[in-house]
Amino acid sequence: MANYATFSKEGLNKVSENNYKVWMCIICGWVYEEEKGAPEEGIEPGTRWEDIPEDWICPDCAAGKEDFDMIEL
Ligand SMILES: [Zn+2]
Repeated sequence: MANYATFSKEGLNKVSENNYKVWMCIICGWVYEEEKGAPEEGIEPGTRWEDIPEDWICPDCAAGKEDFDMIEL
């Protein structure tokens, strides 16, 4: 139930795209784009944030996934 608000907010804007999201490390500002992935980190382009291993850490400052925030473009 709580998800309806977020769903309807994003739902209709980008239907024709793949809804790739961008995540940013709130500690150092390193940005992860799902569309581009992070090939130098072994993460293929198109990898969703939720598919990245839970023990993955920021390549710049070693922060965990919980220290990343989704940013809207
Ligand atoms: Zn970082």
